Amino acid sequence: MTDCLFCKIVSEEVPGEIVYRDDQVTAFNDINPVAPTHILIVPNQHMSSVNDMDQAAEPTVGHMFTVARELAEQRNLQDSGYRLIINTGPDAGQDIFHLHLHLIGGQRMRHPMG
Ligand code: AMP
Ligand code: ZN
Repeated sequence: MTDCLFCKIVSEEVPGEIVYRDDQVTAFNDINPVAPTHILIVPNQHMSSVNDMDQAAEPTVGHMFTVARELAEQRNLQDSGYRLIINTGPDAGQDIFHLHLHLIGGQRMRHPMG
C-alpha cells in the first residue's frame, strides 16, 4: 500500500519510535499514548483490518500476540496486567486501516470499555 501511514512506518519512510522488528511484524510507540506503555504491533505486510484477515494471515496475527507478550514481559507488566485491543471499523473507532494490536499497560485500566 503506497498511501498507508503504518506501511510507511514499517518501511521507515515515516519516522516511528520502533521498539521491535522481525520479518513478520513491527512494533512502535503510539504517538498519543493513553498509558505509560502504549505500543502498536503491526504486520509488516499490509492488511487493513481483521475484516481483511484470511487463513494465510493466521501465523502472522498469532505472532503479533507473542510479540505483545514478550514486550509486556520486558516492561514487567505480566503480573500487574495489560490490555490488548484491536479496533475494527467505525463503531470501534478504527482510525488507521492497517491492522494493529494495541498493547496498553502501566496503569489501572478504566471500565467499561464499550
Ligand atoms: P485505532 O483507533 O485503533 O485505529 O488506533 C490508531 C492509533 O494510531 C491511535 O492510538 C493513534 O494515536 C496512533 N497513531 C496515529 N498516527 C501515528 C503515528 N504517526 N505514529 C504512531 N502512532 C500513531
Ligand atoms: Zn499499510
